[in-house]
Amino acid sequence: MSGGDNLEFEIRPNPAPVGDAERAALLANPGFGRIFTDHMVTVRYADGKGWYDARVEARAPIPMDPASAVLHYAQEIFEGLKAYTLPDGGVAMFRPDANAARFNQSAERMAMPALPVETFLRSLHEIIEIDRGWIPQGEEGSLYLRPFAYASEVFLGVRPATEYLYLVIASPVGPYFSGGVKPVSIWVSPDYTRAAPGGTGAAKCGGNYAAGLSAQAEAAEHGCDQVVYLDAVERKYIDELGGMNVFLVFDDGSLATPPLTGTILPGITRDSVIKLARRAGRRVEERPISLDEWREGAASGRVREAFACGTAAVITPIGTIRSLDGEFTVADGGSGEVTMALRKELVDIQRGRAEDPFSWVH
Ligand code: PMP
Repeated sequence: MSGGDNLEFEIRPNPAPVGDAERAALLANPGFGRIFTDHMVTVRYADGKGWYDARVEARAPIPMDPASAVLHYAQEIFEGLKAYTLPDGGVAMFRPDANAARFNQSAERMAMPALPVETFLRSLHEIIEIDRGWIPQGEEGSLYLRPFAYASEVFLGVRPATEYLYLVIASPVGPYFSGGVKPVSIWVSPDYTRAAPGGTGAAKCGGNYAAGLSAQAEAAEHGCDQVVYLDAVERKYIDELGGMNVFLVFDDGSLATPPLTGTILPGITRDSVIKLARRAGRRVEERPISLDEWREGAASGRVREAFACGTAAVITPIGTIRSLDGEFTVADGGSGEVTMALRKELVDIQRGRAEDPFSWVH
């Protein structure tokens, strides 16, 4: 039983939000993931009872028993999406139903109860409504929404917990690239892989990110912005970056991206790019791409552009690819034409500046 299909949220407005002047000062330069709004959503779950006690209340620390199962066995999942102001003053989210579906796929993989899609969507609406004043105005700012759930049962032992807490917090964020889109440099990790067949690579669970921190640190030591993971079996094929999916653009105008075989996150931006490119008549292949194909294609000119994509940065050109064997760049390592056109098309749809052919904007 999961319950919670028609949960009513109890709204308890925070009686002491920060003043308008203080909020305006914070919103002037929010950065990413540093400041948070006044409220949070909480919904509880217990076996036999289902989802219950849905609230919107003052954002505050959550009391946690030291034996809470999540602290020991990391049974936890999350999502990330943005809300932003449209030209007509309304507020929109991009494909929140896709985040709801992925949240439940992650829940299934981590042996957690599914959350009804209506409750997921409603929780986002509630926090946006009550914290609307925290959405940065202007072209590029947005309110980053972070729904997540964890095993709250007080129990030591390796089995799925019987109690969970679902929360949503929100963080105003500024433009990802202040001063224009900048190509990222990536490090091919020689030692670490992200996900093996049968593992949790397709789930958005905290453990995947904890396991990637050493590789990310290694990337930074080699002067790179992000790590790119190779497949765990042959160490030959591109999987994805630490927090973004990868595309190559070929000299015939076609695109390719690694397939969803369970070791990479099914990115919502990835899916949007595939649909937009195909709609524009481009061929898009979901197939294995080896690092050798990328390197040789860059040298021969067959690979014209490479880009990474995800909610945070939308679409970002990939500049330098560095590994223990040396480094290479695609074309001049700058921002490719197809990459930047896709980026503009997607951002214009998201921001309500262009027609929304797939009804993605809510
Ligand atoms: N891969 C990983 C590992 C990620 O964390 C993300 C960000 N959620 C992505 C890809 C891109 O997914 P999306 O386009 O849904 O943000």
